[in-house]
Amino acid sequence: MKTETISKKNGHSLKAFNVEDIGDDHLFTGLETPMKPNAFEMSNTEKKERISILFSEIMDVLGLDLNDDSLQGTPDRVAKMYVEEIFSGLDPKNKPKVALFDNKYQYNQMLVEKNITFYSNCEHHFVPIIGKAHIAYKSSGKVIGLSKLNRIVQYYAKRPQVQERLTNQIANELKTVLNTENVAVIIDAKHLCVSSRGIKDDTSTTVTTYYGGEFNTASKIAELQNYINN
Ligand SMILES: [Zn+2]
Repeated sequence: MKTETISKKNGHSLKAFNVEDIGDDHLFTGLETPMKPNAFEMSNTEKKERISILFSEIMDVLGLDLNDDSLQGTPDRVAKMYVEEIFSGLDPKNKPKVALFDNKYQYNQMLVEKNITFYSNCEHHFVPIIGKAHIAYKSSGKVIGLSKLNRIVQYYAKRPQVQERLTNQIANELKTVLNTENVAVIIDAKHLCVSSRGIKDDTSTTVTTYYGGEFNTASKIAELQNYINN
């Protein structure tokens, strides 16, 4: 079995992990999506051409007849879908630009945007993660357009992901743009790699949470849970 030592940013290294175990247990190695330094040297057009060639090879190895009318266009479709849609959140150019507004109404309680549906993909198996995100924040003086909360979720979801990292990436982005620690992110998602393969558990969902600043108290957490569950 293959083992690999994973280096942490501070220079210390974690004990050697089995890379297969990391994938099967859905562990993750850091807050940032692991990217190559030269990730954007290739144009999107080149990326689509390369992915199409490589995906047709996968289909060919599986024994599929690429001359069949139904299958012929699949490699191009998959390439386009990867680059322009489901993995478009890898490209910082697609990050939503967030405009802030003055908090004119002096609303200074929590704002909760709940049930934001998202589709992501598990980075260990490349199959869908389907879930709902609930976001809360307390204004530091500025407010954000509600649709932007949704867009921030979608941007980070459109990457190969691990749910814990998705949660933290959304929370970090909100803290940065809203200039406050007072943000909360709750994600409840179904992982198709758990329901359709492996352990084949069709009923379980995974919940991850981030409670920052004033949200990190038992009473605020209970208040938030109450809004989300009703
Ligand atoms: Zn998975």
